[in-house]
Amino acid sequence: MNIVFISAEVVPFSKTGGLGDVSSAYPKAMKELGHNIIIFTPLYKKINLEDNNIKLVKKDLVAPIGEKLEVFELYESVLPGSQVPIYFIKNNYLYRDGIYVDEETGEDYADSPIRFLSFSQSVFASLELLGFAPNIIHANDWHTGLVPFLLKTQYSEKPLFSKARTVFTIHNIGYQGIYPLEEIADANIPEIYLTEDLLGFYDQINFMKAAVVYTDILTTVSSKYAEEIQTKEYGYGLEKIIATRKDDLYGIVHGIDLTIWNPRTDELIVKNYDARNLKGKEECKNYLQDKLNLDVTDKPLLGIITRLATQKGLNMILKKFDDIMNLKVQFILLGTGDPKLEKKFKTKEKKYPEDCSINIEFDNRLAHQIEAASDFFLMPSIYEPCGLNQMYSMVYGTVPIVRNTGGLSDTVKDYVEDQTNGNGFVFEKAKPDEFFEAVELAVSLYYNDHPSFVKLQKRVMSLDFSWKNAASNWQKVYEQALKKRWKKK
Ligand code: ADP
Repeated sequence: MNIVFISAEVVPFSKTGGLGDVSSAYPKAMKELGHNIIIFTPLYKKINLEDNNIKLVKKDLVAPIGEKLEVFELYESVLPGSQVPIYFIKNNYLYRDGIYVDEETGEDYADSPIRFLSFSQSVFASLELLGFAPNIIHANDWHTGLVPFLLKTQYSEKPLFSKARTVFTIHNIGYQGIYPLEEIADANIPEIYLTEDLLGFYDQINFMKAAVVYTDILTTVSSKYAEEIQTKEYGYGLEKIIATRKDDLYGIVHGIDLTIWNPRTDELIVKNYDARNLKGKEECKNYLQDKLNLDVTDKPLLGIITRLATQKGLNMILKKFDDIMNLKVQFILLGTGDPKLEKKFKTKEKKYPEDCSINIEFDNRLAHQIEAASDFFLMPSIYEPCGLNQMYSMVYGTVPIVRNTGGLSDTVKDYVEDQTNGNGFVFEKAKPDEFFEAVELAVSLYYNDHPSFVKLQKRVMSLDFSWKNAASNWQKVYEQALKKRWKKK
């Protein structure tokens, strides 16, 4: 199949979270299945052309934004470690320091709707330039939410796109791209499309909803999350419209890129190791304790790497912080985001200088080192569509402590309930006491039955989180998409 994969972030060029990781690992997996897949992503200022071997394809291209024509430049490279072509769109809207947030003010870019509309339109213009006739156009999250709409209303009658079907993946329904209509006025979207049953959403425009309405196939990133987003608790106002698409909705858990996240080969950690020899993991722990000025001890180390957002259940950790530290553990956090959460965690570091390290930054090397050094990884998320960190953790022999939601539910089975197959500690409700109980059980296993803890570590390291399964499920979903016949709305 000819597949076009469109994403606002792609590792190693840009990343704010899991979307970036997946947008490189997934196309690689589909390429390995033999598909002809190409990626489109914006060119942000921080992406260095020379270092990344990115070459200009053509200048002075144009894409329509309402009545106007927006000029853009098209660049190309190859995704490292693969043969997947990746194309970059450069225009005045997209070419900025930040991806979504103005780094100077810390505010979201107010013109993001037009920024990402310009991106989507430029992808179509680029496909015409390249003469690439897609079978599948796969868009991701709200930034590319207008892609199915644009295909159906502006491009599907062109011969190049006559075979194209759309797949849209919801990676996180908490971010829908809802904006006042004035923000998108320049796009001159005809009013007939802005009604509540199409793009309109309480007199605003909602990019993700546009995708849910117009896409041929809708997917999300775990089977549990596919159920959850049809409920009021998790649907963020889109639950009803998603339920109307439930026959076209599939939940597929991601795999992980084992060429990047692998303790045997990881060049970002001080000592490589595997399940047969965990000595290296101990070295990684001692190295990190020393580097972060913690006591070098064999206390169990709890790690967390996260966007500092309420979604991640961080308030439960804060509420129970003293109780957790009283269990005689160490705690390392790496994250950026909500300044209030940043501050609250920083005060904890002051209180427990020998055992607590709070790192408010985005640092990929440190992320790898924390995965390797920790004994347990915390993900008490309020909601977690898929989650990658719990899988990265397991590969590194770091036992996850998670809430039973979304992808965490698909990938982690409770050890307390099933000591033969369990691969982590799972709690049900987003309540501080329930979370704490799971931490207590985990730490107790570490201290009171260390051989069983090591056995558990080795078991989680042997689990298969490669893309093999996910990729073949994806292929089936694409086959479903190809069977779809578009009815004009
Ligand atoms: P989400 O996509 O909701 O942010 P995931 O668990 O799916 O959560 O993916 C998060 C990814 O972002 C992981 O690769 C994680 O290591 C990385 N990450 C998050 N915060 C940081 C940070 N401050 N520094 C480095 N990597 C980070």
